[in-house]
Amino acid sequence: MRKIETYLIKPYHYKCILVFFALWMLYFPAVSANRFVSGDENFPDNTPDGAFKNKKEMFSHQKNYIPGQPLNLAVKTIFIAINVWQKDDGTGNFKESDELLEYLGQVVDWLNKIFRSCPPPFDPVAGIEYLRDSHIRFELKDVGFYRNTDLYEVGCFQGKRLNEAVFAVSPEKRKFLNIHLTPGNCRGASGYANYPSSGSSDADSYVVSFVKHDRDDLESIQWWALMLHIAHELGHNLDLRHPYNSEYCQTSHPDFLFDLFGFEKQEWCNNPRPGCDICYHDGSWGCDRDDPETTCTNNIMGGNKSSGSITPLQMGRMNRALAVKSVRKYAWGYSLVPYEISFNQTWDTGIKFYQDIVIKSGNTLHLTGTIEVVPEASLIIESGARLVIDGGKITSALYSDTHWQGVIKEPARKTGFLFWRKKVPEGEMIITNNGKIENYLR
Ligand SMILES: [Zn+2]
Repeated sequence: MRKIETYLIKPYHYKCILVFFALWMLYFPAVSANRFVSGDENFPDNTPDGAFKNKKEMFSHQKNYIPGQPLNLAVKTIFIAINVWQKDDGTGNFKESDELLEYLGQVVDWLNKIFRSCPPPFDPVAGIEYLRDSHIRFELKDVGFYRNTDLYEVGCFQGKRLNEAVFAVSPEKRKFLNIHLTPGNCRGASGYANYPSSGSSDADSYVVSFVKHDRDDLESIQWWALMLHIAHELGHNLDLRHPYNSEYCQTSHPDFLFDLFGFEKQEWCNNPRPGCDICYHDGSWGCDRDDPETTCTNNIMGGNKSSGSITPLQMGRMNRALAVKSVRKYAWGYSLVPYEISFNQTWDTGIKFYQDIVIKSGNTLHLTGTIEVVPEASLIIESGARLVIDGGKITSALYSDTHWQGVIKEPARKTGFLFWRKKVPEGEMIITNNGKIENYLR
């Protein structure tokens, strides 16, 4: 610096160049240091609304879980079990046989076909790009036969009782989404299922399906129809409702399905239900979609014999349930593409991750919620980045067989050239306010 001062007494044109150079010398290291020193005040504030942006909004919106979005890169497999309820003497329902197991295997194969490669909608909404792969699969982990004359023919809303009766005999089946086949009846419905829970992450899901066919003649059974029925009920387990009477019907609702109902009141809609902006579709098993008088569709939740289509927002909602609701405990999968954190943010949501999380250099993740991760996943703190577990928790996903891979802190490194060479500190982890990190390998 002293040398520069002596130059300042040189002729004017030198002065201009050197003053500029001196200012630049003072300014540039300040900028580069600001990016990497690890005091809060020195971390860049590159968020639109303050130093730490709360990501609650992002985690809560179904559109952010449409397949291919950064939060939904992994294909997830849901572990299911099928339970056949018989009378005490073993009669009253399907009997155990290799042939039955083959048919049930076929039902699950078809289920996967629908979810992997779902048919396009009959009535597409203009401007929507429909997807084939929902990123959801099913794996049949167990078929069980249960003899219980009191329970075998239960009616409405007994799924929890059936679940508990199974868990009393086979406790490991709490890890699977249980589908109960009974000859019962509930007001003429084909069956029912429960919605996932937001509040209690270990709540159990169930499907109850009423088998009304001649159960001794397996060849005469409409297995494809049974599959469509189970697909519909699993849709409820994954948070979907009926396009014919219970989907969100106000366009301002955050879960409104624009890609199912359209962006405004349909042309054919004269009298929406009170409180609704759009009209529901017709919904019945036999409704003819080619009849211009009807408004039934082939949507998976439409209750129609030609159902199977799933819209992108429905895929998003189901995958959101596999991240933030209780049904996530049955789902497994891993994507090699990490979720990247590239600005300072606070996470106060309870969420399950099926991919690595990388905190990019110069940024902080402030965690007050709980992150569950699948066994294959790691959390990587790049050099110059920071993780603050502030009363939050990172743990293995419920029912994991093994620990998760743990936190990896990238070592300190040098950056820049000559005068501008700077040390980027090791990735930093701070645990405070009873924050926890548990069940990890390293
Ligand atoms: Zn339903």
